[in-house]
Amino acid sequence: MQTTTIKTDIDFERDGKQVSVLRLPDSTNSSAMRTIPIPIAMLKHGKGPTVLLMAGNHGDEFEGQVTLAKLMRSLEPVDIEGRIIFLPAANLPAVLTGTRNSPLDGQNLNRVFPGTSDGPLTAQIAHYITSVLLPMCDAWLDLHSGGASLDFMPCVNVLLAEDKALARRTMDMARAFDAPLVVVYDDLGGGRSSLSAALRQGILCLNTEMGGAAELSKQGLRICERGVRNVLAWLRVLRANAAVEPVPRSMRVVQHRAASYVYAPEAGLFEAFGDLGDMVEEGHVAGRLHFINAPMREPLMVNYRQSGLLYTKRPLARVEAGDCVALVVADAELP
Ligand SMILES: [Zn+2]
Repeated sequence: MQTTTIKTDIDFERDGKQVSVLRLPDSTNSSAMRTIPIPIAMLKHGKGPTVLLMAGNHGDEFEGQVTLAKLMRSLEPVDIEGRIIFLPAANLPAVLTGTRNSPLDGQNLNRVFPGTSDGPLTAQIAHYITSVLLPMCDAWLDLHSGGASLDFMPCVNVLLAEDKALARRTMDMARAFDAPLVVVYDDLGGGRSSLSAALRQGILCLNTEMGGAAELSKQGLRICERGVRNVLAWLRVLRANAAVEPVPRSMRVVQHRAASYVYAPEAGLFEAFGDLGDMVEEGHVAGRLHFINAPMREPLMVNYRQSGLLYTKRPLARVEAGDCVALVVADAELP
């Protein structure tokens, strides 16, 4: 096992509230021995499960970051039974530039798990999470939104383990979050995502998509704040008086597949026909691709590849060949 490069003065075994940083060493032309101070906090009280609450995996997804900062300020040890580790800006360099990937090494934290301690900075963050934090954890919430290039209907994402008991508890936790939509993924990022990392370590894990388009959505923020508290209450980490009352709502469980994606076949300007929440049909037109550099050329029609719910769209008109412009999911067929 490689040793981590990251140091912190947090004592993970001590009761109480600790607020500090993870120090990720870096060495640049202007700062020979600097560290990147990634915010971290920990609450511990009594005996109970350990939960990692994380946001800022991608720097342009804001609902989770704000949710966790608010929760860090408001929760006290007396409110909980167990341990909560807060990592609200996990890839701090990306968070500070408001970009998906780190500006320092160009890497996407959610595509480098399990990470390595002798790799680029982003891989060192992933390595710290998998080798130091996750072994302490029973559950992990990795809060995402769509980022600058996608807009989602608020949803919770799960990857189901082959271990039936873990898969069942993951679905129960997803339902406890109480987002309008639960999306079941086959795989995400070829085993390099946080969901895959959690699965390998046998830990309960949810991702979210709380909106997108690099906005801080009111609706997404509301669902995110409630959802995190709901899950903490479901895990019995949050005491009843600090939990929120669940509001019954209709929840839909859908399945994400390869045919969910609609891609731009060429570069151009994409005119989307559907709106988020529309039910669409396989083979019907998702939108029209215009070629402004060749104005006499007829636009190209781009079709949906499966029937179902249009739950993600690209908010940017300008596309390159291969850009994802829409995602469609059908009702899940769970065992
Ligand atoms: Zn993300």
